[in-house]
Amino acid sequence: MNVRSSEERQFEEAVAIANIPTLLMVLVQLTGDERWLEAPFRPVRVRGMSDNDSGGLTEAAQSEVREAALKAILAWRAGRPVALPEPAPAMLVRMLSVAMAENVPSEYGSFTAAQLGQIPLLNPSGIDVPDDFHVIIIGAGVSGLCAAINLDAAGIKHTIFEKNSTVGGVWWQNSYPGAGVDTPNHLYSFSFATYDWSKYFALRDELHDYLEQVSVKFDVRKDIRFDTQVNSAVYHAADQHWVVAVQTADGCIETHTANVVISAVGAFNPPVYPDIEGADSFEGESWHTAHWPQGADISGKKVAIIGNGATCMQIGPEIQHDVESLTIFQQSNHWAAPFEQFRREVPQPIRFLLSEVPLYQTWYRVRLGWTFNDRIHSALQRDPDWVHPERSLNAQNDAHRAYFTDYVKNELGDRVDDLLDKVLPTYPPFGKRMLMDNGWYRMLTNPKVQLVDDRVTRIASDRLITEDGSEYEADVLVYATGFDVLRFIDSFNVIGRSGRTLREVWEDDNAKAYMGTVVPDFPNFFTLYGPNLQPGHGGSLIFVVEMQVNYIMDVLRKMATNKLGAVECRQDVHDRYNDSVDRAHEDMVWTHPGMQTYYRNERGRIVVNSPWRNVDFFAMTREANLVEYQTEPLRG
Ligand SMILES: Cc1cc2nc3c(=O)[nH]c(=O)nc-3n(C[C@H](O)[C@H](O)[C@H](O)COP(=O)(O)OP(=O)(O)OC[C@H]3O[C@@H](n4cnc5c(N)ncnc54)[C@H](O)[C@@H]3O)c2cc1C
Repeated sequence: MNVRSSEERQFEEAVAIANIPTLLMVLVQLTGDERWLEAPFRPVRVRGMSDNDSGGLTEAAQSEVREAALKAILAWRAGRPVALPEPAPAMLVRMLSVAMAENVPSEYGSFTAAQLGQIPLLNPSGIDVPDDFHVIIIGAGVSGLCAAINLDAAGIKHTIFEKNSTVGGVWWQNSYPGAGVDTPNHLYSFSFATYDWSKYFALRDELHDYLEQVSVKFDVRKDIRFDTQVNSAVYHAADQHWVVAVQTADGCIETHTANVVISAVGAFNPPVYPDIEGADSFEGESWHTAHWPQGADISGKKVAIIGNGATCMQIGPEIQHDVESLTIFQQSNHWAAPFEQFRREVPQPIRFLLSEVPLYQTWYRVRLGWTFNDRIHSALQRDPDWVHPERSLNAQNDAHRAYFTDYVKNELGDRVDDLLDKVLPTYPPFGKRMLMDNGWYRMLTNPKVQLVDDRVTRIASDRLITEDGSEYEADVLVYATGFDVLRFIDSFNVIGRSGRTLREVWEDDNAKAYMGTVVPDFPNFFTLYGPNLQPGHGGSLIFVVEMQVNYIMDVLRKMATNKLGAVECRQDVHDRYNDSVDRAHEDMVWTHPGMQTYYRNERGRIVVNSPWRNVDFFAMTREANLVEYQTEPLRG
């Protein structure tokens, strides 16, 4: 059998099970034939976040699409050019509207073009900086890697200091059972580095492998100093540079200078422990989820977990069958959405299609981008006339509540009477990050599992005692109590132009930055994954970081072109921006009075989440406008 026919068979097998709405978009681009955007091929909208694999088309229409798609893919493979290589923005909006079976606003044209690679999301063409121009990046997780790859492409010398022994950040550090993403990986990956994901939602090892491979493929490691912790960065205005003090693995302190510092230290650090009387007296083993011991054996043990957030939701279903008992102390409840592909393997033929047909890969990603990002944004806005403000924000959000409630009831089965009130949030859906249900509700019906809706106030030897005086025995105690997310950039001390620390300027937990990226009084300093950037309405942080890096590269380009030595965001620009962030939040779900989240600081201000849609942040970060900065010519 020749190679060609075996490849044909692989395509045939893949197209036979491929996602119809995605295939339709591939067909339109490959053939230029717009009849695939009309009835009887127009997909029908489905509820929830499902991929809508059949598109709701009749069997006959599906067969027609698959047959035509196979023919078009094979012809393209044999050399026929793509008929519509770069559809115009209006056409892209029309296509996306058909693919999602809903009206996508016209402003999504160039945004979609960028996601399809027609407009580079990142534009790191050569930047002509002086020979001794140097950038220091702190951290080699997703953010640090993204910055380094783009600086490299622009020909800008840089060093990354990373306190760990390898790259990956949270995906290196968090190795608890079930650790993984709740954003689908064909979306949660760099736009410039696709990957052959084995699962739709990868687990930690694969996520870490991906980032390792990215660091090798883009030759980033040569510029990384591992096992090197940055202690401080101090701006020297007279020299227009930063002095960065680091501690190496053998304890030596070194100082390095740089024209620009990019902080990429992440937000999910350090781990937080609850203040519980007698915690030290616990006789068994205990650890925080961020420090899950390698090879820890919990089989046959009585395991207690304090905290039931995103992390516990991943761990519980994973370990429930191995342990003797699992007691979970609930701190607050969460909404979790059904998603048919959560934890599923990507079938081999689909992996082949995603790898071999870039248009299939990008359209699959674009569709996920709509489902998991901006589609939900309007449902998170408060309707001032809404009649049930205590439970939801508007009619659409109330419909989400009804839909998710039915789902939870169904999952709890005959335990609905005793569990529903305990698990069902009173606050509106999406008030906290929407989690993916990986069998959490079913796990709660396992007789080995007990959900305690009361606070642990005391620990005494092998017992956890709750507020109402009840006692629970445990051999192993796991703290799933999260991270100090509110104190941005807490792992090193930053001192700006006037001698004030960033901690002081940010009043400890009230971090603010212009577009989450630059802060007045801290010239030539950028913060990736900074304040008010987390896409709380869902989606991938990687996208946000790419947008930030695009913006930073444009600032550097303009510094080089205009021969500037220092750029510092203007205070009035920064303040106006942050006022608009706060105003936008006033009407959004995260300021709903019915819940507490790690998004809000002590004074009630949202500091973690972004109020913007991705399309807004995309527009804001396309180009840097130096009118918004105080600038100084390059000296010396
Ligand atoms: C369990 C878990 C699940 C998540 N799931 C999702 C998801 O589904 N979707 C999503 O969008 N986001 C998710 N996130 C958020 C996640 O943090 C981001 O997506 C992203 O990985 C952040 O990358 P980063 O590089 O900004 O930060 P990090 O990954 O935290 O990397 C920061 C790096 O900086 C280093 N560092 C810190 N301080 C110093 C210092 N002083 N000196 C030297 N090095 C230093 C650290 O060692 C680390 O390597 C999740 C986070 C966690 C913890």
